Amino acid sequence: MSNKPKIAFFDFTSCEGCQLTVIDALQTHLGLLDLVEIVQFREAMTEKGEDYQIAFVEGSCTRKSDEDRLRQIRNQADVVVALGACAHLGGINSMKNRWTIENVQTYVYGQNGKEAYESYPARPISAVVQVDAVIPGCPIDRFEFLRIVQQMLQGRKPKLPDYPLCVECKLAENACLNTLGKPCLGPITRAGCDAICPTYGDGCEGCRGWHPEANFEHMREILRGHGLSEEDIDARFTMFNHYQMEHMGEDSPLKPEAVLSRNEALPSSDFAAPQEAD
Ligand code: SF4
Ligand code: SF4
Ligand code: SF4
Repeated sequence: MSNKPKIAFFDFTSCEGCQLTVIDALQTHLGLLDLVEIVQFREAMTEKGEDYQIAFVEGSCTRKSDEDRLRQIRNQADVVVALGACAHLGGINSMKNRWTIENVQTYVYGQNGKEAYESYPARPISAVVQVDAVIPGCPIDRFEFLRIVQQMLQGRKPKLPDYPLCVECKLAENACLNTLGKPCLGPITRAGCDAICPTYGDGCEGCRGWHPEANFEHMREILRGHGLSEEDIDARFTMFNHYQMEHMGEDSPLKPEAVLSRNEALPSSDFAAPQEAD
């Protein structure tokens, strides 16, 4: 019998891009398979072992029934790792939290939507269960995944960079996009992706979450300088991080309008959602 730690991968509401990144990482770092035994990974294998010590959870919690499944995973695993922005932050799924659930259901699925699909505001998995480690990003960075797995196998607590993305961007010798007329959230975003988006000419959207000293008012000033309205700025702040910003209480840098949009009616889709089979 193998003495290797048993690991399992689970997906909740997500695009499964982070699991794909894991598969990609395993193809180039096959040595990892000498150190662990994968017992469950729906995207890569059919076996479904329920005996595991480390659980990687991708995706947000977006319905009540997700909570039971998450608690089952937590009860079984010694270590639970949030894999990617959906699990870590709520991610892009939490954009829907700007509107009422009924609004979103009919916008996407038409009038049947309310009955057809169970849904509630998107939450990171840490809102339901204790999380021991986080691998941020949308999608995750494969090298960070490998580094964090290695640290966990050595019994070390994985540590994330606690400084802004701009540090990595400067080290890459990029010209700053914010000075070139392109909005970039690098000053408030946690580093760790080697500033991949600015390096390829796109502004950072904050998919790794905020660093601990993020100065949102200064960021807002920079974004106003690009001609963005307060609503546009709130939309950028909440693309991946709506859940966090809503739960910052009085410290939330969101303007009241961002919360008020909850009451705005969205148009109903023409799509007639099929009823879910019992
Ligand atoms: S974090 Fe991004 S890539 Fe990963 S599952 Fe969520 S949407 Fe997909
Ligand atoms: S491009 Fe973005 S990440 Fe790079 S230095 Fe400018 S603000 Fe920071
Ligand atoms: S540059 Fe920003 S948006 Fe792009 S991967 Fe890094 S943290 Fe995410």
